[in-house]
Amino acid sequence: MTTWVGRWRAVGRDVRVVGLMVLALALAGVSTIARGQEVAGGSAGLMSPEAKLGYRPGADGKLVEWSTVAEYVREVGERSRRVEVVELGRTTEDRPYLVAIVSNEATIANLDRAKEHQAKLHDPRKLADQDEAVRIVKESKPVVLITCTIHSSETASTFTAMELLHELATGDDPATREILDNTILLLVPSANPDGVDITARWYEKTKGKPWEGDGMPVLYHKYAGHDTNRDWFMLNLQETRLLTRMLYFEWLPTITYDIHQMGSTGARIFVPPFYEPQNPNIHPRVTQGIFLIGAHMAWSLASERKQGVLTNAMYDNWWNGGCRTVPQRHNMVGILTESASVKLATPIFLEKSQLKGATRGFPNHDLAVNFADPWPGGWWRLRDIVDYQLICARATLSLAARYRECFQGNLLEMSRDAIATGENEPPYGWVVTPDPADPARAARMVRILHDTGIDVLQAEDEFTLGGHTYSKGTYVLPASQPFRPHLKDMMERQVYPNRLRSDGTAEPPYDVAGWTLPLLMGVASAPLSEPLDPSWPLTKLTKFEAPQGRVEGLETAKVVLIPAREVEAVAALAALNQAGVEVRRRVVASADRPEASVGSWVVRAVSSAREVLEPLARERGLRVVGVAGDQADSLFERDTQPLRLGRIGLYKPWKPSMDEGWTRLVLETHGVSYTTLHDADIKGGNLNERFDVIVLPSVSAATIRDGWGLNETDPAYVGGLGREGQTHLRRFVNEGGRLVCLENSCEFAIAAFKPPIVEVLRSLKSSEFYGPGSIFRAQVPAKARESPFAFLLDAMPDDPTVYFSRSLAFALRPEGGDPRGNAAESLLDYALRDVLESGWLLGEEKIAGRSALMALRHGKGEVILFGFPPQFRGQTVGTFRLFFNALMLTRDQNQDRQTAKPPVSRS
Ligand SMILES: [Zn+2]
Repeated sequence: MTTWVGRWRAVGRDVRVVGLMVLALALAGVSTIARGQEVAGGSAGLMSPEAKLGYRPGADGKLVEWSTVAEYVREVGERSRRVEVVELGRTTEDRPYLVAIVSNEATIANLDRAKEHQAKLHDPRKLADQDEAVRIVKESKPVVLITCTIHSSETASTFTAMELLHELATGDDPATREILDNTILLLVPSANPDGVDITARWYEKTKGKPWEGDGMPVLYHKYAGHDTNRDWFMLNLQETRLLTRMLYFEWLPTITYDIHQMGSTGARIFVPPFYEPQNPNIHPRVTQGIFLIGAHMAWSLASERKQGVLTNAMYDNWWNGGCRTVPQRHNMVGILTESASVKLATPIFLEKSQLKGATRGFPNHDLAVNFADPWPGGWWRLRDIVDYQLICARATLSLAARYRECFQGNLLEMSRDAIATGENEPPYGWVVTPDPADPARAARMVRILHDTGIDVLQAEDEFTLGGHTYSKGTYVLPASQPFRPHLKDMMERQVYPNRLRSDGTAEPPYDVAGWTLPLLMGVASAPLSEPLDPSWPLTKLTKFEAPQGRVEGLETAKVVLIPAREVEAVAALAALNQAGVEVRRRVVASADRPEASVGSWVVRAVSSAREVLEPLARERGLRVVGVAGDQADSLFERDTQPLRLGRIGLYKPWKPSMDEGWTRLVLETHGVSYTTLHDADIKGGNLNERFDVIVLPSVSAATIRDGWGLNETDPAYVGGLGREGQTHLRRFVNEGGRLVCLENSCEFAIAAFKPPIVEVLRSLKSSEFYGPGSIFRAQVPAKARESPFAFLLDAMPDDPTVYFSRSLAFALRPEGGDPRGNAAESLLDYALRDVLESGWLLGEEKIAGRSALMALRHGKGEVILFGFPPQFRGQTVGTFRLFFNALMLTRDQNQDRQTAKPPVSRS
């Protein structure tokens, strides 16, 4: 830890002029670019990618496995003095995650100096004085990060990377020299190496089949699939964490370029600028830098007679969370291109009549200012994609080389602007107050921000602000810091503009509309309306340490209480169950012990319980309280019911579901074990013998029922649950099992179980109701806490926020209960008014007061319907407990349901 006050202010102001000076020089055409040292390259004997692969990169029908890519990249690193290859770490499935650093020899020999330059330009508080600022802007080189195949079915860019690497390592032409002497390239040949193998191996199996290049039955990342590019503010995935560390702590690039592919029938390539709307937190110099590079890409493509280039369409400049968009909020010029795809590596032929527009600035495939040279149709091959991508990569690098000082000076200006704005206008920062009953949750949120480069201060003592006293341990996130755009974008509520089409329907955003982190995570925070007071006892965290859990009075304890609020407590329940320790849930609050509230858990302080709880509490920041004395036993014995995690089966369709993957990740990271169930496992029946709870992730009813069609994939993966699977699931519930349905799978359950409810939103046009990826207010209905299902609400406040991603809402049928006596009750409703917290909502009246979470009794069992995704992308920590609670049993499955009723209070 270093003291924050003082150091912070010393440098901030006096270096402000430099960036403008540099910009002026650049605009006046004054060339101050110094030629680097003569580059020998040292690339003797360096094999070309073609020689390594045995075919030209991008050849028809050829995909490469990661071991070959990694071997090649490492060989280049060993043989070329222009290239240094670094393994950032291991991937989710233990493959090397590589970056090749490319520049001229002199630069490669002194990379630490380049890193220091970037760190100082991104944070002028680290500069000694103005002279140093001027010198670094003059001397430094733009650092350009290029990331490939984060989406593994978009196969071309790993080949593009191999070829670009070879060109730069061996080329001696003026254009290559210009790039080497004036830029530093960080080339990531794949941002998802595991997926390179998953895709290549599947592709081989499909060759010559009707589904060649299609029909993949698994996600191409173990947990995230396509959502690898939705994790960049949350850092749930190992790959994101590795690159994020490099981005914001080690290299701090100037420009980032993430290479993608899109559908086949539109433009041949999209290059920036992006489409509306514009996120208000992105610095204008980032946006204009995007224009500049995009224009240079389009210009370069036109110069090489490449047709079908689309600009200013489809991909918005609003969304946060992707590999290009989080860097944009770190003052980096974040670029994306999207090329038309082939079928993995199999070429396609498109007639002119098959070529289409889409939406959002690209209504048809006709000539337009942003589509100046439509492609006429014909064959489209993987090699075409590689060619287009190589031109774009080189265009980015050569532009960065030519505008070197301008880009570097801009970095300084943007960080200076962020610091000054945060110092001079509200919000001056945010206060994050840990919940004393669950301090680990606030720490978890603050850690994510810290790990994306945000300065975090923590109170070493209590302090007073606006008449409120904040305790020791309170976090303060000052707005006056270089990456203020990211901090502000994470902490404030998003207000997505009402963008309607001419027919009144909603124009969908590119991805989601809102992502306010404290609302996603259920953490209390407030903006600072006054400047930070230097007298506050705040210290900047230089290394983030999670709060140690508390294990109080375990030595003398008779019983141990696990209070009700903690998200991570589920790991303790799982471990206690595993160790055979009996856990009971309090159904009545104890008057004497505030920790023994309704929903808290109690165990006897036997040695097996201690052995589980002590290390777990420490690791996960849990607060566990030992209770001694005469009354202790009654905390366990009276006013409690048994509690344990059920034996969980998680449905996994062969049509891969990202939600299923995220569900696995959330369960595994919280210590909850489960068994994966494929269609055949469910169709095999006898489910009650093996499972207490079966979870259907958010998958459409059609996919659950029908799965892949004939000739869409290998026959082994064709079909879904069908009638047979549905019958077995009904029997499972009838005989006492619990079916937990997440979001879209509720439609399957409603069709299968015919409960006395209706889904009220899905039939509405988007002119009547629309809520794309937004955060909504919910409320616990008056009687829900007295329901036998009240345990579902444990650890939840009465007014939680929930994520809504074109999700569902339920209403009871007017006639109420159904003839078979099956009852439905709402455990959580959408708020009656002011539903929208962050994002976009049209037609509030359609959802206000409707049910968001329902429990249905069916036979001896039950169906739990989550209208919203409680574990969305592993980001909605605030509603994780709702999901975990739905996996818990408060009765012995062999006993009659009557025992599920909480015992009458005997206080
Ligand atoms: Zn993509």
